Amino acid sequence: MSQPDAAAAAIVEIDGSRLIDRLRRLAAIGARPDGGLNRQAFTPEEGEARRLVANWARDIGMTAETDAIGNLYLRYVPDGTDGQAPVLGGSHLDTQPAGGWLDGAYGVIAALEAVQAIAEQGVPLARPLEVVAWVNEEGSRFQPGVMGSAWFAGHFDLARAPQIEGSDGEALDHAIVGYKAATPDIEERETPFPIAGLIEAHIEQGPILEREGLKVGVVEGVQGIRWFRVEVLGEAAHAGTTPLGARRDAVLAATRLVQALSAAMADPADVLRFTVGRFVVSPGSPNTVADKVTFTIDMRHPDPHELDKGEATIREICAGQAAPCTAEVTVTETLSPVAFDERVVAAVAGAAEALGIAARRMASGAGHDAANIARVAPAGMIFVPCHGGVSHHPAENADEADLIAGAHVVATAMARLAAR
Ligand SMILES: [Zn+2]
Repeated sequence: MSQPDAAAAAIVEIDGSRLIDRLRRLAAIGARPDGGLNRQAFTPEEGEARRLVANWARDIGMTAETDAIGNLYLRYVPDGTDGQAPVLGGSHLDTQPAGGWLDGAYGVIAALEAVQAIAEQGVPLARPLEVVAWVNEEGSRFQPGVMGSAWFAGHFDLARAPQIEGSDGEALDHAIVGYKAATPDIEERETPFPIAGLIEAHIEQGPILEREGLKVGVVEGVQGIRWFRVEVLGEAAHAGTTPLGARRDAVLAATRLVQALSAAMADPADVLRFTVGRFVVSPGSPNTVADKVTFTIDMRHPDPHELDKGEATIREICAGQAAPCTAEVTVTETLSPVAFDERVVAAVAGAAEALGIAARRMASGAGHDAANIARVAPAGMIFVPCHGGVSHHPAENADEADLIAGAHVVATAMARLAAR
């Protein structure tokens, strides 16, 4: 076999204890007393995590670069590959306010281990490798989420940043400036740049792999997401003096709407996802009839036609069942379903098979950075099981052996993608 052929069929051995050790050390940054993590986007904690990971990469000869929004790129450029489009692996370093130690961090550290292992074994490559950490994946402090990858893919306009206020009142543009200033030694880079392939490893955040006793999910795509804001408008009135029949109570109308929507969204096939996660009452006083309720809807499905049907149902129910109040529906975010690149999917599946790791193909229920990148470059994902499917929770956890198996697949698949 010629060198590229050898690399195209390469099996890369990784250092499992180094992977776990780094994950544990990273988990100390933003640690909560309950065992979870609070390392939200653009906070000093996320900045410290970024610095730690960049230093690990520099220790093994990689360079650290960033871009206008603060994404982190750690580059490994073997001789003769400069100028070629790189193969990327990675995910994100931010967490939910009460998140876990693996969501995001796992994909970044698995990719770092992959690159280090490939470099140590001298696997011949035709392309550079990069580890990427996209900023603000979680969307808990600043909305929208998956922001760094959306910006890279041309779906988020940074000119909006001054108008986007964080949950703590800080403006997004200010937060980005402070975040980047904390690591002035990370150089700026021109974006976007061509990507030959991207693999994001992530805990499944669902129960399927664990239930089926599998170590790896070969992710074929991500279901579509549509977010709505519903504003129910009534009339404020005195709780003691206004007869019930004379009220336009926004709380009663909004709770009725949520019940009707929830019933209408029931899906016998159990594919559609419908969530009302925020419900804000105004003026929010115990002795005043509410004049306004704002609630959110998160709707997901792999089929774009089902998302359209769901939206029509939402609009119909809100228009027809809010009386004596009125309800206004606004789409605040829309992500079409994504099918991952067949070559990347095949590289992940082929790596798992070559390593003898039990895997299945599946769709992702959650949105991920890789879905944004898939719109501009070949991308794919690999899932590993997590305990009880629990995520976005301090109890989030996974078996070390499964984390190691997943990183093993990442390393082998990245080497194979970069062989040509
Ligand atoms: Zn994540």
